[in-house]
Amino acid sequence: MKDFLLKLAPVWRLKPLGLLTLFTGQKLVMPFYHAVEDEPKPYLKHAYPVKSVKSFEKDLDEILHHFEPVDTETLINWVQTGKQPSKRSFWLSFDDGLSSFYHFAAPVLKRKGIPAACFVNTAFIDNKDLFFRYKASLVIEQINGLENAVIKKITGKLEVETDFQVIKERIENVKYAEKKVLDDIAEIAGISFSEFLKTEQPYLSTVQIKSLLKDGFTIGAHSLDHPKFSEIPIEEQVRQTGQSVGNLVKAFDIKTPLFSFPFTDDKVSKAYFERIRNNPVSPVLTFGTAGLKRDQIYTNLQRIPVELGHASAMDIIRMEYVYYVLKSFIGKNTLKRF
Ligand SMILES: [Zn+2]
Repeated sequence: MKDFLLKLAPVWRLKPLGLLTLFTGQKLVMPFYHAVEDEPKPYLKHAYPVKSVKSFEKDLDEILHHFEPVDTETLINWVQTGKQPSKRSFWLSFDDGLSSFYHFAAPVLKRKGIPAACFVNTAFIDNKDLFFRYKASLVIEQINGLENAVIKKITGKLEVETDFQVIKERIENVKYAEKKVLDDIAEIAGISFSEFLKTEQPYLSTVQIKSLLKDGFTIGAHSLDHPKFSEIPIEEQVRQTGQSVGNLVKAFDIKTPLFSFPFTDDKVSKAYFERIRNNPVSPVLTFGTAGLKRDQIYTNLQRIPVELGHASAMDIIRMEYVYYVLKSFIGKNTLKRF
C-alpha cells in the first residue's frame, strides 16, 4: 500500500502540508537514516539504499522548508509533559552507529544547525564486531568471483542449489539465531571480517562518539548486537536493552538514555515495556520504525524510514501523512500492544 502511495508522490506534492497536519493532528515527524555515503560500501549494498551526501542535503533542505528541527531535550519534554508542538517539527535520527554519520552526515547537520541522534550497537563500537546483515552483504558481494569448488562447499553448508540467485536469497535471509553460518561461509570463501573491520572501520569509535557528544549530538542505544526482537525471548529482549543502555550510560555518562529497536519493534509486548522499567538503567524514550503512527506506549515513538529507493525524504513523509489520513477512517493509527 505504501509503495503504491509513494508512486503517486507528484499528486501528494499538490496537497498543502498544512492541511495534512491539520487533518491528522500530527505536527511532529521523525525521519531516520542509516548511512550517508557517496559510494555505497559493499557491506551496505544488500542491506538498504544509501543516500549520497548531495541527496541527503537535498532531503534536509526540503524538510527544513516545511518543518523546524527540534533537539532531543525538547522531544523528551514534549513526551513527558504531553505538550504538543506549536509548529510543524522534525526530530532526526540515525541507526546502526556507522562512522559515515561522523564523516559525512554530522558535518552537514552542524553546518545547517540541525540536531540529531545516533543509535549505536554497543557490541560494535570501535569495530569490535559486525552486524550479521552486513556480513551477509559482504559475502554476497564476493560470491560471484569464487571458484566453483568453493561455491560447492558453500551451497553444501547452506543446503541449497548451486544457483547465484538462490544462494543470494538464502544468505540475505539468514536469521540472527543462525548468524554463525555467515562466519563459517566467510571462512570457506576466504573473507576475513576482522580484517575488514580493521581496514574499513565501518563503525563509530569511542573517540568519535565523544566528539559527537561534545558537538551536541545525542547518542542512544540500538541493542548489543542487532537481533530482531520478535525472534528472541522476552528475557533476551530485556537483556539486550538493559545492557546496551547501561554500557552507554557508563562509557559516556549519558543522563537521559534513549533506545531504538533493531529492525523493528513489531510484536514487542506490553510486558517488555514493564520489564525494562525494572532494569537498573532504563531508556527515557524508545523508538520504532512503523512510520507516522501513534503507539499505545506513550514513551515509544514511531519514526519514518526515509531510505526507500530513490524517493526523497519529503515525498516519503507526505506519503506517510496520506496513509495516516486513509487509516484514520478505519481507526488504525495507534499501534496496540499485547
Ligand atoms: Zn539497525
